[in-house]
Amino acid sequence: MKVVLVVHGGAWAIPDEMASASVDGVKAAACEGYTVLKKGGSALDAVELAVRTMEDNPVFDAGHGAVLNADGEVELDAMIMDGRTLTCGAVSSVQNIVNPVSLARAVKEKTDHIMLTGRGANLFAESIGMGTVPTDSLVTGYEKNEWEKHKKYITGIKELFNSQWGHDTVGAVAVDSSGNVACATSTGGIRNKMVGRVGDSPIIGSGGYADNLSGAVSCTGHGESILKVTLARLIAFHMEQGKEVEDALDLSLSYMGDRVQGAGGAIAVSTSGKWAAKFTTKRMAWSAVENDVLWYGLDPNDKIKGHLFQFHILQ
Ligand code: ASP
Repeated sequence: MKVVLVVHGGAWAIPDEMASASVDGVKAAACEGYTVLKKGGSALDAVELAVRTMEDNPVFDAGHGAVLNADGEVELDAMIMDGRTLTCGAVSSVQNIVNPVSLARAVKEKTDHIMLTGRGANLFAESIGMGTVPTDSLVTGYEKNEWEKHKKYITGIKELFNSQWGHDTVGAVAVDSSGNVACATSTGGIRNKMVGRVGDSPIIGSGGYADNLSGAVSCTGHGESILKVTLARLIAFHMEQGKEVEDALDLSLSYMGDRVQGAGGAIAVSTSGKWAAKFTTKRMAWSAVENDVLWYGLDPNDKIKGHLFQFHILQ
């Protein structure tokens, strides 16, 4: 079976000064996740590791480096889903967890629930011995400056899309050597969001979806628009109906544009290893590895061949 790992580092209008760091970050995450698959690991382990890599990288709006809410605080959301069984886990509005995606996985594996939020998520983290950090340690100087500069939520969707987002949401999808798919998504949301606002990212079927009967999807973009059209499930639905992965993405993103004037991006992989990365925002950082070849892009129509890192591990 062919193994494939695809990641995104968020949509919107990534400014030039952040472009190469964003691209380097997605490439590194794709290589980390792919290494798991090459060693015979599961799609679930691969997407979790790829997303953790990006949560740890301050260039992205997830984990360390997340954007700040209206009160200048970090509030993180994440989800993970296993396409074999549709089992999934999510957390929302967590503040002092370094890797929300791993807490989401623990919710999936150690509770009878799918999502835990805020204080409950923190109590659960404590109960399983997951370390917490001072919330401030997740805040970067870059984000503090950006937040000081733009102290207002941008309300018009158009203005929001054209705003220079320095960093963004992350996600990963994978198919492993047994033909199982999985997805994971993690975010700090949108800068200056209301306290307690939760977007699409941790919502099963909106920010991500994985089903061995169709494939795995992870989304990014305007959360309120993605929620209205349940974008990840819509893409999976089109794949289930026999659409090519690329067409399923195009159809669903253009539906979101037409129906609710929303923009965003998504990555998807089918159980047979077909994959695509598509977006209707100005840019989206993404990277994919298949057959030991790494691909990446940032601008529309990019599909650039790169070099695998850690190649020694793969041989
Ligand atoms: N979808 C995320 C949210 O609305 C943000 C993003 O993908 O950039 O919270």
